[in-house]
Amino acid sequence: MDGTASSRTPEGSPDHCPICRAAIRLEPSQIVGDLPCPSCSVLLWFVKTTTGVHLYDARDVKPVFERLVVVLADRDIDVTRLMTGKIDSIELLKLVMAAEDSAGWNITDEDAEQIRSPGDALHYLLSRLL
Ligand SMILES: [Zn+2]
Repeated sequence: MDGTASSRTPEGSPDHCPICRAAIRLEPSQIVGDLPCPSCSVLLWFVKTTTGVHLYDARDVKPVFERLVVVLADRDIDVTRLMTGKIDSIELLKLVMAAEDSAGWNITDEDAEQIRSPGDALHYLLSRLL
């Protein structure tokens, strides 16, 4: 565990603690969850995407995630299915669009192309909401 910290992108750099920048290697079986940083002990949220495991400060994510759950529940979308990855890619896109629609956003084609897994969708939604 040496701190080879070449942090070019503060947000969106996968596998690094957003607080202390320690590299965190994990192979989560879940798409989303929380864990304390092994280096600075701050509670982090992880989201597993196709580009890596993105880590957020849990204090930032919690209220945003709660908002997201409400938005999705309004559209009869069960967020736990997203979190456990039990949805297909078409459902996934519908879900992101529904969330964007009700929040008054506009998803671009480029953005839509980046979304290939439930984790990608969640990361996208969180990064827009944070
Ligand atoms: Zn840390």
